[in-house]
Amino acid sequence: MISSRHIAARYPENVALLSTLNPRLPHLCSSLADVGNAQPLCTLPPDKLAKAIALSHWSTGLYFGATAWLLLTLWFLIRAGAPIARLAARFSPRPWLQGLIAAPLWLVIFSLLDLPAALLGHHVGLAFGISVESWPAWLADWSKSTLIFILVGTLVFSVLYALLRHAPRRWWLWLWIVTIPVEVFAVFVAPLVIDPLFNHFQPLAQTDPALVDQLERVAARGGLHIQPSRIFLMDASRKVTGPNAYVTGLGASKRIVVWDTTLREETPDEILFTYGHEQGHYVLHHVAKGIAFSVPVILFFYWLASLLLQSLVRTRGPRWHIDSQSSWSSLGVLIFLYVLLSFFSEPIANAMSRHIEHQADVYGQEVIHGLVPNPQAAAVDSFCADAQLWLDNPHPNRFVEFWTYSHPSTEQRAEFAAHYDPWLPGRHPKYFSKQP
Ligand SMILES: [Zn+2]
Repeated sequence: MISSRHIAARYPENVALLSTLNPRLPHLCSSLADVGNAQPLCTLPPDKLAKAIALSHWSTGLYFGATAWLLLTLWFLIRAGAPIARLAARFSPRPWLQGLIAAPLWLVIFSLLDLPAALLGHHVGLAFGISVESWPAWLADWSKSTLIFILVGTLVFSVLYALLRHAPRRWWLWLWIVTIPVEVFAVFVAPLVIDPLFNHFQPLAQTDPALVDQLERVAARGGLHIQPSRIFLMDASRKVTGPNAYVTGLGASKRIVVWDTTLREETPDEILFTYGHEQGHYVLHHVAKGIAFSVPVILFFYWLASLLLQSLVRTRGPRWHIDSQSSWSSLGVLIFLYVLLSFFSEPIANAMSRHIEHQADVYGQEVIHGLVPNPQAAAVDSFCADAQLWLDNPHPNRFVEFWTYSHPSTEQRAEFAAHYDPWLPGRHPKYFSKQP
């Protein structure tokens, strides 16, 4: 499915296993939209405003339209489950070997159903100047992410159907127990194995040692020594025009990544704020907290999936020629439920994301106190510059914001930043001592 935020940005998310299966979700951290107040802090010139509004209509339509399209087509394709299962049974009597036919076939069908929206999304990104990635390069990325999706998905469905066969009533509980270490492992290996397949990373110290020195001052102010080898520069400018930065990985793979577009588009003070925000994610253990938050959410959605699967197979199984939920003929139902429940898990994951993004904003502003002349201005300017470059709609629909925004709106962030000075008399910083 398509991110409603950055049509052009496609990175694995680490909120839930459901999300790790979806290669087209936005990353932990990306730039944002703003909301109009009486006197908005970030204003766009008229031509950009018109483009920003049109782009938001496109991305919203694509996100909800693609979800509706997938649900509708999958619902009608559920009947294909029985012939696909019969085809798989011709190759082997063993169910786990049958899965190596049925699961990739279904995942190819799913990827092809999703392809028109993905193509349209890239076309829109190019048309609005958000993306600069050529079609051949985009197709190469799409092929790689689809191949990973099919490989990981086949593995997941093999485990899932083994559990369905051996624990038909409690499979969802066992799957949840298996999911947690897998999710931790996926977050650990993603920056080492997956991310380098799509972008080039190099230690920032190799290209901009002076900036690393500046960033180390921010790290030291936070009582932290982030090894320069853990701060990476990503060559995002080959694909997109807007700036971004993010924290990813876990333990030995944990790192801060700054896009080269950020260095090109932001002033030194804005870069220090952006970096301070990312350091906030790092210091406040937001990756680990995101995983911890997802643990009960995943359990709930697996339990709900088990109830829905059982009910659909009981009531509609005869019509669809599905004899039992553990038969490979039910795979279409499971993929339909995956799309449906991923859609409904989105606002839950985004509410958590907005919460930790706000914490990182607070930290980012506090940590650059004393290092830049005006932390409030640095934060506000950084948000407004991002809004211009990403063509954020200043007046997003409230429902769309609630459902799809992984960050508070730019206007909310800028409003908060403009008025947040915890060093004023009677106020107190949240993460730092008021004494120098
Ligand atoms: Zn962030």
